[in-house]
Amino acid sequence: MMVKELKNIEKVDILSFQQDLISWFKEEQRDLPWRKDQDPYKVWVSEIMLQQTRVDTVIPYFNRFIEWFPTIDVLAKADEEKVLKAWEGLGYYSRVRNLHSAVKEVQEKYDSKVPDNPKDISSLKGVGPYTAGAILSIAYGVPEPAVDGNVMRVLSRILSIWDDIAKPSSRKIFESAVRELISHDEPSAFNQALMELGALICTPTSPSCLLCPVRDHCQAFHEGTASELPVKTKKNKQKQVQLAAVILTNEEGKILIHKRPENGLLANLWEFPNVEILHPFVIERGNITALFQEAFDLNIKLDKGIGQIEHIFSHLVWNINVFKGTIHYDIHLNYDWKFVTPAEMEQYAFPVSAHKMFKLYNDFNEK
Ligand code: SF4
Repeated sequence: MMVKELKNIEKVDILSFQQDLISWFKEEQRDLPWRKDQDPYKVWVSEIMLQQTRVDTVIPYFNRFIEWFPTIDVLAKADEEKVLKAWEGLGYYSRVRNLHSAVKEVQEKYDSKVPDNPKDISSLKGVGPYTAGAILSIAYGVPEPAVDGNVMRVLSRILSIWDDIAKPSSRKIFESAVRELISHDEPSAFNQALMELGALICTPTSPSCLLCPVRDHCQAFHEGTASELPVKTKKNKQKQVQLAAVILTNEEGKILIHKRPENGLLANLWEFPNVEILHPFVIERGNITALFQEAFDLNIKLDKGIGQIEHIFSHLVWNINVFKGTIHYDIHLNYDWKFVTPAEMEQYAFPVSAHKMFKLYNDFNEK
């Protein structure tokens, strides 16, 4: 069935569009480490890393990840702590936890070979339609669409599609468009070329139309509407959360760290003990001490406020007041609480917010 919004495809000379796009990509593509070969495992790792994260940021993470876990078997056997450590700083940690469990499934169920068909690959944890399409097309040459925000932006302009790309239902329209347009001879180059065009030329705010290899095929260019597309409604405002965190040392100068729960935000990462401040007026030492007692049964002595940091997630913002303090060594500790030296902290995976706090702490102590 031809979706109504795809009527504009009739205006595109598909063969010539494919040729212009693919030959540009072959000339201009960036030299990226995951493009060195078409190993489906490497394509998979790179695509998961690239979700919500810039290419420049991903490159060193990708190289180190592949160095630490060069194959599916090595990753499947690895400790979660080490896998989280390899991801430390990239954010969206559920992505790597899902990758880790999906890789175990590939090892057990598919003899360590990434599935090469839509049904099996889509059943793996964390592999949505985009990742499935990217692996199938790039690594296996299957003409499947790989539609992310970049591709929706580019195609909304080329085909003058005015559906709101923030709505999940719009993805289907763009997948249908790619199915119509994709080269069956070179699906890998075609999908990568669309992504590359979105990254280098058809950028969100000021597309470089004069340099664009598919300008002749682009309806937004001809109609002068490139700056109005894509249509994307704004997300709801992020929720603001106030926290108080404390870097606590014992008599030996060791620091108390706490492992977050195994589900939810930043699951299984380590952090400095913290509590939510529901009423801003309680940001006062006596009240905070009482909150720690209530939340964790910790009897702490709060020393000084050492600064504030902000940590932004897609849906909320943590505003954290950071303190230093002390605690007696002989508190009751279980597996998710540890006293560690600063050097031992290297073995644990922390979110970026904890690194920022530790920097505040070190700067404060050096004053
Ligand atoms: S001509 Fe401009 S708007 Fe159209 S695809 Fe190229 S860069 Fe994007």
